[in-house]
Amino acid sequence: MQLTHPFAALGPAFSRPAELLPLQDPRLASWNDSAAALLGWQGGPPADFLEFINGERGLPHAPVASLYAGHQFGVWVPQLGDGRAAILGQVDSAENGPWELQVKGGGPTPFSRGGDGRAVLRSTIREYLGSEAVHGLNIASTRALALVDSSTPVWREQQETAALLVRLCPTHVRFGTFEVLASRGQTQELKTLADFVIENFYRDCLAAEQPYLAFYQAVIGRTAELVAGWMAQGFAHGVLNTDNMSILGVTLDYGPFAFMDAYEPGFICNHSDHHGRYAFDRQPAIALWNLSCLGSALLALVERGAAEEALRQFPAQYTRSFRRRMGAKLGLATVDERDWALVEQLLSIMARQRADYARTFRLLSRRATHDSLAGLFAGDTEFARWLAAYRERTAGVANAEATALAHNPKYLLRNYMAQIAIERAERGDYRDIERLLRLVQAPFAEHPDAQEYFQSPPAWAAGLQLSCSS
Ligand code: AMP
Ligand code: MG
Repeated sequence: MQLTHPFAALGPAFSRPAELLPLQDPRLASWNDSAAALLGWQGGPPADFLEFINGERGLPHAPVASLYAGHQFGVWVPQLGDGRAAILGQVDSAENGPWELQVKGGGPTPFSRGGDGRAVLRSTIREYLGSEAVHGLNIASTRALALVDSSTPVWREQQETAALLVRLCPTHVRFGTFEVLASRGQTQELKTLADFVIENFYRDCLAAEQPYLAFYQAVIGRTAELVAGWMAQGFAHGVLNTDNMSILGVTLDYGPFAFMDAYEPGFICNHSDHHGRYAFDRQPAIALWNLSCLGSALLALVERGAAEEALRQFPAQYTRSFRRRMGAKLGLATVDERDWALVEQLLSIMARQRADYARTFRLLSRRATHDSLAGLFAGDTEFARWLAAYRERTAGVANAEATALAHNPKYLLRNYMAQIAIERAERGDYRDIERLLRLVQAPFAEHPDAQEYFQSPPAWAAGLQLSCSS
């Protein structure tokens, strides 16, 4: 594998060597051609891929675990770092720029804090499919390249088996990477990190009068877009600690995430989130809070007043993006105040009815399916009135159906679907992973062989509980 490792080259203030500890009987359970294409890799994994990522063959550069800190559930933790992830290096693709390769679950690192450095098959499948599902919905995300299963036992609440996820991101730097340096007063290193990120990923900022301020503004803008994408598609991240916030504004670190089935604004997907800090509808406010932590970490580089002013732009940026996306879900290219009132009325009816979020919007996308939708809301006069007003609003709108169909997925990675794939994979059958991968990578398309996934989730799905234990 042809790799460079510019992040490791920044030095020991940013990362430490992390050896990959091989798993027993490694098997490539899934390979994602679409992510591989980003690297310019065609025709399956490169020679000896499994040996490289399982630590059985030496790589061009020693893998490293990155150092970061973070606010976890609002509480400052001065040192976290990659406890079970190792960055192998970077593929410099001529067409698609740099992509860091990271292995998650490769064994303990200097930052494991007593953990085993492993990832169980269950959580690895969820991240593998979840990240591709988010990307498939045109929301920025880390990408998943490969999933490796093994027979190495690991203990969580019960015995499970260890797996590896190979994920891709231009850089895995997080808000917490900045926070750790700022908290230690390492201003020179903080500047080195900011320069590294700006020169590689925010080049436009170099031309600005105040490049560090422009960088902070750009991160705020990307994060606003990101969260608006989540909110429009019913995605709850579940653990929005500052160490899980990507400096590139991509969805990072999939744990107890969920796409909502029934619409419930206060939906909590993380069973360990007792106070609902990371409830679905709190995500914009939490993103703002996290951005303020990033701003505090940048105060050696950005003047406080300017940073505060930049942060004050977040709510308007978020709202603009969210309204545009919700308008598109209704088939509208522009959204005025009356249109926005339509969106809000619909959401309030859906919340009252606990309507299935994705299914409702998909059935709304085509006039031909409005009857089925009306059937789901039978007897709800408020909905009947709303639907009539909506049909009138969109009657003459060119491309309304095409716009709506392009923004309302037919298929989602619902928790129960991942759960079925997990149970089969635990018995050595990976075919569902392949099937779901193809489905979630093209969620707006029709998949005649997957109609059962357009139905409401089965009753047993309501009892599924997800925690951070992964
Ligand atoms: P996460 O909730 O996956 O974002 O992880 C939070 C922190 O705990 C990160 O620093 C992880 O690297 C670390 N961590 C999670 N699971 C393990 C594990 N099994 N072994 C070592 N560190 C872990
Ligand atoms: Mg994390």
